[in-house]
Amino acid sequence: PNYRVPRDKLAAENQRIVDMGVEVKYNTRVGKDVSVENLEKDYDAIIWAVGCWTGRALPVDGWEGTPNCVTGVAYLKAFNEGRMKVTGKKLICVGGGDTSIDVVSVARRIGTNPAMPGNPEDVVHDGSMDQDESLIAGREPVDATLTSLFTKENMMAAEHEIHDAIHEGVTILDGVMPLEVIKGDDGRATGLKVCDCTMDGMTPIPVEGTERVLEADIIVAAIGQGGDLAGLESFDNGRGLMDTTNNYQLKDKPNHFAIGDIVRPHLLTTAIGQAWVAAESVDEFLKGEEIKKRPKVDVHHFDLLEKMHETGLDPETFDPNAGDQRGTSSSNFAVHNYEDRSFAEIISSDELFLGHFEVTPRHKRSEDVPSADDVLGHFKERMQGLDDETAQKEADRCMSCGLCFECDNCVIYCPQDAVYRVPKAEATTGRYVATDYSRCIGCHICHDVCPTGYIQMGLGE
Ligand code: SF4
Ligand code: SF4
Repeated sequence: PNYRVPRDKLAAENQRIVDMGVEVKYNTRVGKDVSVENLEKDYDAIIWAVGCWTGRALPVDGWEGTPNCVTGVAYLKAFNEGRMKVTGKKLICVGGGDTSIDVVSVARRIGTNPAMPGNPEDVVHDGSMDQDESLIAGREPVDATLTSLFTKENMMAAEHEIHDAIHEGVTILDGVMPLEVIKGDDGRATGLKVCDCTMDGMTPIPVEGTERVLEADIIVAAIGQGGDLAGLESFDNGRGLMDTTNNYQLKDKPNHFAIGDIVRPHLLTTAIGQAWVAAESVDEFLKGEEIKKRPKVDVHHFDLLEKMHETGLDPETFDPNAGDQRGTSSSNFAVHNYEDRSFAEIISSDELFLGHFEVTPRHKRSEDVPSADDVLGHFKERMQGLDDETAQKEADRCMSCGLCFECDNCVIYCPQDAVYRVPKAEATTGRYVATDYSRCIGCHICHDVCPTGYIQMGLGE
């Protein structure tokens, strides 16, 4: 929804990609308008980033075929396409994850209008229907209820999202399981029968004697989603998703890769991370190299030799026949005073010299969460990003833990003048100071005054 990612910002991001020279073919469905076989003829590698466009039906009696029982994906699509201007008067969403929070938050924002022609689900089912703009003027608050099997502490949605929804006037019934859709004579749902439950792992256990019916004129299920893989059946893992390796390469289809919700419905940032890994995998695949195994957590370590190579400062090749070279401190085949940090992820705070840093409060993003009385028609971005200046100030708080940030402390405090700056022509990130070991007496002072923990004593404490 636009209160999460404003449409102008999304459009700018898309344009940035197009401006890189990416050709976009609109209104083309692979599997229908163009076959996978044809695509494979024209392209050496294919990345599937098709998202999840089908929602799971609620597995309770009375759901199937009931018109005003819809999925969260379909409901949000009607809103995001700008077609749904208002909704039902009493909405129940069954879920507990981020999608269900979106459903109730959208409902509270768009409201309802007694003058709405037809039924609230019409605009969800009919993709060509566009509700009249005039409905916006007369809208009223919606009674929005979210039910979750899990208690609030264990719900899948982020904690602050749950707080925000409650602040905006959503009723959250936690530890509650749906039992049956109650229907009227016209075949439409009039309510949802529920009861309290406890959880045994992922299985809800009903609490006897707590059954009751919640009234509703539209019921939304946000309990999981899958891809729309019509025409792409051989890619379906049986759950509407695609199975990949850790490198996002499809199992049994080496020229195909998949990223984003179609692999695992999750956050936008997760998809961005997957795209990074997939791009590297495709690069290796196209070069005919073996695709490298990836660790469970992808960490990028600083590697001084790589950095020196990048900046054209590679050491010279070692010639083993050049005579006795033991004890040399000037040969260029070696990086002297080499602090190899490629094994270390981060320096812990007890190794930092904290006296060097002033306490600087964090610059937190602010939130614009309307109250229950103000939420109707409120479509401003909920989470306010930092402006350029504040983002830079926040970045300035970085202690650069583990890597030399060129403060000169070691040069100044060494009593032996053993630490010296590497000549400019040979210096790069992580290669700023070096030590003349013929002067060093091992007093540890440089280690103690180094704010970032960059200097480690080779002989220990
Ligand atoms: S251990 Fe002492 S003498 Fe050696 S470089 Fe560090 S400060 Fe200088
Ligand atoms: S090694 Fe440490 S003390 Fe020396 S310049 Fe770098 S950050 Fe400062």
